[in-house]
Amino acid sequence: MDDLYREYILEHYRAPHNKGDLDHPDRFAAYANPLCGDRLQMSVRLEGDRVADVRFNGSGCAISQASASMLTDLMQDKTIDELTHITKQDIFDMLGITISPARIRCALLAWEVLHKGILGESEDDEEDL
Ligand code: ZN
Repeated sequence: MDDLYREYILEHYRAPHNKGDLDHPDRFAAYANPLCGDRLQMSVRLEGDRVADVRFNGSGCAISQASASMLTDLMQDKTIDELTHITKQDIFDMLGITISPARIRCALLAWEVLHKGILGESEDDEEDL
């Protein structure tokens, strides 16, 4: 594991971007990862079909919180259609480290909140987790 990338994750964990809540969000979702005790909620304000603002709140391990910080950065100003094209691989690429099988749900919790909660997509692709 590369120390530089680990430090990048810890920076997001210590000083997360977009942390907090929005008053009267257009979309809101909350999910938990009971395996690790991670909890995340996400509030999104839309202007038309574009993200005007997004915030997350939660608690848990560094990987779960850092991935939420990075994902919410990525979501700013994106259209709903663009959000649907954010993949699990995009999350792994942002984290930049090899995620062990035990931590995959930590890494993908924010992705799950976005796709299943905020976008309301089906769980048909659960197989490749
Ligand atoms: Zn975790």
